[in-house]
Amino acid sequence: MGLMDGKVAIVFGVANKNSIAWGITRRFHEEGATIGLSYAGEALKKRVLPLAEEIGCDFVEECDVTDDEALDRTFERIRERFGRIDTLVHSIAFANREDLGGRFVNISREGFKTALDISAYSLIAMARRAEPLMTEGGSMLSLTYYAAEKVMPKYHVMAIAKAALETITRYLANDLGPKGIRVNAISAGPIKTLAAAGVPGFRLMLKYSEQVSPLRRLVTTEDVGNTALYLASDLGSAVTGEIIHVDAGYNILGLTLTPDELAELD
Ligand code: NAP
Repeated sequence: MGLMDGKVAIVFGVANKNSIAWGITRRFHEEGATIGLSYAGEALKKRVLPLAEEIGCDFVEECDVTDDEALDRTFERIRERFGRIDTLVHSIAFANREDLGGRFVNISREGFKTALDISAYSLIAMARRAEPLMTEGGSMLSLTYYAAEKVMPKYHVMAIAKAALETITRYLANDLGPKGIRVNAISAGPIKTLAAAGVPGFRLMLKYSEQVSPLRRLVTTEDVGNTALYLASDLGSAVTGEIIHVDAGYNILGLTLTPDELAELD
């Protein structure tokens, strides 16, 4: 018996095998879910199709989440194919490179709109279309980052987008809760992916997180997949509106000292 037996999970945001969305998808698949995948653009098709094949998934739809017609089309195809959704995963983010790095004060109006539209509003747009398909309740989840809570170097416009995403999570949880639909977000520690490569100094973030996190290690897409499984399956049946940190404990720290600096205190 798998924890996701009989459940239909639709996952947005697989770009390649390093994507967090792929870690989640694999875990859902191992636990018996029927999977539908959606990816951003034609360029990704050649990387996503072989992955879909690995798990015997033949529902792979291109969908740019800034395009309402594309979203309508994608959810209509999901309805035709599966008739319902049990779990919806939003693992999508984008910001123009110039709005990550530089000075925060220079974030442009257009850059702000782009980042917030793709990385935050899209969850509302998807939730609205998924709601009628979650006829027996369901679970929605998205991916956020600690920069929404505390200042992290150079994360800038994406920090604002993540703060919006976390607030959207709580409001959607309240709005959809009476229908038995749960909405949560996972705040993942840094993981080397395509999107992460756009954050200036990301390598330093990895190095530092590994050194100072209470668990003294980085997190993997499998770690995130495990928590996603808890939230998507009946294990998380009374959990909604939560932001769950999967970050080896980094977020509990006040002063982040490296092991060498800590040793100096003895
Ligand atoms: P990723 O593999 O690059 O995934 C990001 C996905 O978003 C890509 O598939 C990307 O497609 C897609 N996307 C961008 N614009 C889109 C659009 N207009 N329509 C549809 N899809 C679009 O990187 P990831 O790190 O796994 O990111 C997944 C989520 O985890 C993001 O929300 C990210 O902020 C979050 N997160 C990541 C980390 C980390 O350290 N990696 C930590 C915490 C949270 P394209 O490649 O075509 O743009």
